[in-house]
Amino acid sequence: MKTKVVIIGGVAAGPKITAKLLRTKDFDCEINLYTEEDMISYSACGLPYFVEGLIENPQRLIVRRPEQFEEQGAHIHLNKRCIKILPEEHIVLIQDTLTGIVEEVQYDKLALATGARPVLPPIKNLHLKNIFTVRKVQDGINIRNKMRSSDTKKAVIVGGGYIGIEMLEAFYLNNIETHMIEMNDYILPIFDSEISEMIKAEILRMSEGKVKITTSDAVIAFEGEECVKRIITAKGQIIETDMVVIASGVTPNTEIARAAGIELGVSNAIRVNNRMQTNIKDIYAAGDCTENFHLVSKNYAWIPLGSTANKEGRCAAINISGKYDAFPGVLGSAVTRYDGFTMSLTGLTETEAKKFGFDTISSTMTKKDKAGYMPSAENITIKLVADKRSKKILGAQAIGCGDADKRINTVASAIQSDQTVDEFLHLDMTYAPPFSTAVDPLLSAALLINNQIYS
Ligand SMILES: Cc1cc2nc3c(=O)[nH]c(=O)nc-3n(C[C@H](O)[C@H](O)[C@H](O)COP(=O)(O)OP(=O)(O)OC[C@H]3O[C@@H](n4cnc5c(N)ncnc54)[C@H](O)[C@@H]3O)c2cc1C
Repeated sequence: MKTKVVIIGGVAAGPKITAKLLRTKDFDCEINLYTEEDMISYSACGLPYFVEGLIENPQRLIVRRPEQFEEQGAHIHLNKRCIKILPEEHIVLIQDTLTGIVEEVQYDKLALATGARPVLPPIKNLHLKNIFTVRKVQDGINIRNKMRSSDTKKAVIVGGGYIGIEMLEAFYLNNIETHMIEMNDYILPIFDSEISEMIKAEILRMSEGKVKITTSDAVIAFEGEECVKRIITAKGQIIETDMVVIASGVTPNTEIARAAGIELGVSNAIRVNNRMQTNIKDIYAAGDCTENFHLVSKNYAWIPLGSTANKEGRCAAINISGKYDAFPGVLGSAVTRYDGFTMSLTGLTETEAKKFGFDTISSTMTKKDKAGYMPSAENITIKLVADKRSKKILGAQAIGCGDADKRINTVASAIQSDQTVDEFLHLDMTYAPPFSTAVDPLLSAALLINNQIYS
């Protein structure tokens, strides 16, 4: 008898589970994927580059179409929202979002991949036209249409996280005068504050006055007749604008999980074990709707990323098919860019590490990413953080116009293999002038830490 697998959610984790199950030869299953959207399997990560115009056609963001899955035997149900899970009966209630009709669907194994949605802060007049959030393909289309309309000269971005920065880049490259407002004292607060300050200074320098960034102030109201015309901040700034993008964070879509008695953890994301099983038998979860185990802090965290959603989806599918796979956890490795300036990190920042009780030691250095005489050499600043007692590497941040992210990936690998600074600085990294320096900047940062430990 075929195992009935029902998957809820169709962007990254849901399609990944589907694709992996379809590739699993010795597992006889019937796959039904339900999504409330009218499309599946798209790259939300690509939306800023679509808005920018680097990708002209939104169809290019689609990874796989429903027909491709259907041809392989999976059933894809668009415009169908799961409104209730009945775990005892192994039933989900699915509502057609166009007709309102509700049907009961039986499952043997259920996978929740319901993801996350943007948070709307408590700002007056959120209903005004030309105020956008960015999550779905249609959001990207709406933002770009407005940005490209002849009456749009100015924009405001609410929130200075990585999505806010990517939207800032898109507007800047389209010659839109843009003002970013961040209520924290720093933009990109996932970095240590002095690195965030460097990032802000660099973005402002590169943008030559076309971009403004306000920190430590919050938007409290939008004003305008029908369309947004200006924003008011808590500190009394009045900023004229033609459009607004709110990028002030996301929250997991876990209401149906909670109602079914599924245990939630950090930030209300679903708690799963390393096989992506929830506390309820035969119910799995993967992607942005789940919390993550952090490999350095050894605590749970909620770090919703597409890279993780894909790995978790694969792991869930393997376990659903009756085999064994374990997802160890995350380092929160992330990267973004602003007009050629890369910002990347992995593991814990020094601030976070201190919060988790580590006795930290760190080094920060700015160096050319390639031999200084090479025309393509650019600066990168690396901050490496280690634990004084164990000498284990805890995290790294790397920013600059040079190859910062490849250094971060190297550190991620070192952290996951539990390396100490002594071991790390003997790493046999590649060198030739167009690629690196004879002593890679990363190893120089490790040497600096070592010198401090043994001084
Ligand atoms: C602008 C932007 C840029 C990003 N850039 C990056 C990046 O560079 N790198 C990176 O790693 N990550 C990035 N991300 C994050 C990445 O897109 C997400 O981590 C990823 O989409 C998570 O996939 P998911 O399938 O878990 O959830 P989601 O993408 O949130 O998809 C969940 C789907 O489930 C549907 N759904 C929810 N509830 C129900 C229900 N009850 N019934 C039916 N359907 C339901 C939702 O409508 C949605 O379609 C970016 C995100 C955005 C918005």
